[in-house]
Amino acid sequence: MRKLVSAGEILVEIMAERIGQSFLEPGPLLGPYPSGAPAIFIGQAAALGQPAGLIGAVGDDDFGRLNIDRLRALGADVSAIAVHTGHATGTAFVTYRADASRHFVFNIRNSASGLIETDAAATNLLACADHVHVMGSSLFSDRAIAVALSAIETVKAKGGTVSFDPNIRREIMQASGMRAALDHVLARADIFLPSGEELFLFSSAKDEKGAADELLARGLSCIVLKKGAAGAVYHDHHGAVASSGFAVDEVDPTGAGDCFGAAFVSFWLRGAAPAEALRIANACGALAVTRKGPMEGIFPLEAVEAFIATGNTQ
Ligand code: ATP
Repeated sequence: MRKLVSAGEILVEIMAERIGQSFLEPGPLLGPYPSGAPAIFIGQAAALGQPAGLIGAVGDDDFGRLNIDRLRALGADVSAIAVHTGHATGTAFVTYRADASRHFVFNIRNSASGLIETDAAATNLLACADHVHVMGSSLFSDRAIAVALSAIETVKAKGGTVSFDPNIRREIMQASGMRAALDHVLARADIFLPSGEELFLFSSAKDEKGAADELLARGLSCIVLKKGAAGAVYHDHHGAVASSGFAVDEVDPTGAGDCFGAAFVSFWLRGAAPAEALRIANACGALAVTRKGPMEGIFPLEAVEAFIATGNTQ
């Protein structure tokens, strides 16, 4: 089976307990939960049986151990996660506003995650990788951008493929080269996985089909537009395939897009038809929102298949 690699931030997430809770005053918190978009993605891919590994860095602390232990338990290759003394593992504090939007307080660039590099272990992992997945949130510094771009070049040079999820988090879009890096990654991607309005950040078209056609003409193989509870729509040079989401009670949306993307890319790599890859991806996205904590809703393939067999679509 083809090996999937991602590179980027590894964090713990700490979540406000109540909707509408402000970080301007003390209040009850939940966590720490293992997190970081590429870590969630690689954890979900591994849980589905896809060979998958992550390049990143944690501190020599319990937050780092929590992440490594969880990724290892899910079956991921953790050999290229560096452990640093002197820098703590990154953190993300999240609170949910009454209108369902989220507010994040991140510490990534100045955490161990900021020390990410293509060291010997990362080079070894990339030597056996066939596909690299890039999250926009992982382009948080010049150093992180260099790691992502070099992973792309290494994998592409041996005929591998690239997927890209913009995963825009306004709170971490400070890196001066980030916008150029997002465009650079998109230009090298085979699969593009935007959610909602992210599609229109990369296209001048005003409607979904126009934007998809414009981006496909630039060289993408396919675009998968995530639409929250409504499911997702796949576009390629032959047309579009829509797939409804599964009906679940959402308790925490964070991580849904990463779990969805991991499932879609894993099944695309296995040669699944778009409708099948979308169904598994919608199921993983739906399951992800049923648990508090971005990696708590990751399930193995058997559990995902059992959910699909009994689940209702929207
Ligand atoms: P995030 O950034 O929060 O990880 P995203 O914005 O990238 O997510 P979404 O469109 O919110 O992506 O969700 C990804 C997928 O997860 C959806 O396409 C859908 O399959 C599933 N999903 C998300 N929310 C729900 C929900 N409330 N009910 C069912 N499925 C959901």
